[in-house]
Amino acid sequence: MYFKELGLKAELLSAIHAQGYKSPTPVQEQAIPEILSGRDVLAGAQTGTGKTAAFTLPILQLLSEKSQGGFNPRALILAPTRELAAQVAKSVAVYGKNLSLHSTVVFGGVNINPQIRELRRGTDILTATPGRLLDHAGQRTLDLSEVEILVLDEADRMLDMGFIHDIRRILKLLPHGRQNLLFSATYPESVRQLADSILHNPKLIQVSRRNTAVETVTQVLHPVARTDKFKLLTHLIKQGDVSRALVFIRTKYAANNLAQKLARNSISAAAIHGNKSQSQRTRALADFKKGAVSILVATDIASRGLDINQLPQVVNYDLPGIPEDYIHRIGRTGRAGARGLALSLVSHDETKLLANIEKLLCTRIQVREIPGFKKEEAVAGAPSFKYEYWSSPRKHVAGFRRRGARR
Ligand code: AMP
Repeated sequence: MYFKELGLKAELLSAIHAQGYKSPTPVQEQAIPEILSGRDVLAGAQTGTGKTAAFTLPILQLLSEKSQGGFNPRALILAPTRELAAQVAKSVAVYGKNLSLHSTVVFGGVNINPQIRELRRGTDILTATPGRLLDHAGQRTLDLSEVEILVLDEADRMLDMGFIHDIRRILKLLPHGRQNLLFSATYPESVRQLADSILHNPKLIQVSRRNTAVETVTQVLHPVARTDKFKLLTHLIKQGDVSRALVFIRTKYAANNLAQKLARNSISAAAIHGNKSQSQRTRALADFKKGAVSILVATDIASRGLDINQLPQVVNYDLPGIPEDYIHRIGRTGRAGARGLALSLVSHDETKLLANIEKLLCTRIQVREIPGFKKEEAVAGAPSFKYEYWSSPRKHVAGFRRRGARR
């Protein structure tokens, strides 16, 4: 299948060609004709599937075909994080470079005034995070009454981040009769409800089971005592097992702390999380991309939308509390057909989290013990039972057995 068979115009085909894309990805193949026909779409697609181009390309085409001259946005793309919003806006610019449409992006964490000036120039396509969009609407620096196409990108993540009320407020500012596109990696009940309330007779598209992104990723688990995690990470780096990696950790505080400790051990590292300013994040990412920083420590939320191609390794310094986040994390490696490696440093207290992740994956992650690093044994004062999880034959995912404590 070629892009031109999808009905895209020459200006878009040449921009696609310039990107080096040969053929559409499955989500593009299915979504582009439907969106061009004006239909609502509900698409199950994760990062890495080509979902951004799947909605950006037809939106550019639809808007370029209608009469120009509008000042207010005609397409609104909502994204959960500033990184993702910036990345989507970049795609709009790249694919739309041969068209005379204006695109703007607004997100929080940066001065609002340049954005106001930008909006005053008029825009056809606006990409935004929900909070900052409402700030603009509240200050009347933005009029959403002419929006013809609405996109909710990574809807599950927006709801996880508590944006439901913001989204509902935004919907009230939009005209009826518009086209709606909802993209989500997963379909919890909350996303289903949102989809039901927004979409009209949508075309349903599901490009992969939610864990297929992980099929190109080799996953390895290193059992380790919690107190030895830092030592193990530096050991893996010094041995060369970990060289250029995105290291996940749950809290912003821990992310800073870990990056500083690595730096003190002569390992170039930077942290990227919600408390960092946009310019700090951009700099950390640029340093990582050009190799000046070899370890990027990130929290789950901050990592969303980070556009890093050819990321060979992901390290889970701790396991995420939500099993789906594990899939999002390791989906950062092994993209676009390349093989990736995801290492998890797992301590005894994370046994339950591990079991939930393995249940979701329907597989067990291979365990590799590193000599000198072992999981801690049950400590004095710990509950009087112990999970026989580590030592059980790792064949199937059936829970784990509870046994009386051994001394
Ligand atoms: P996304 O799922 O939108 O985050 O896209 C993942 C990556 O795939 C991006 O780096 C895109 O540049 C790339 N991409 C999108 N569409 C194609 C395509 N048809 N062929 C090759 N790469 C693509």
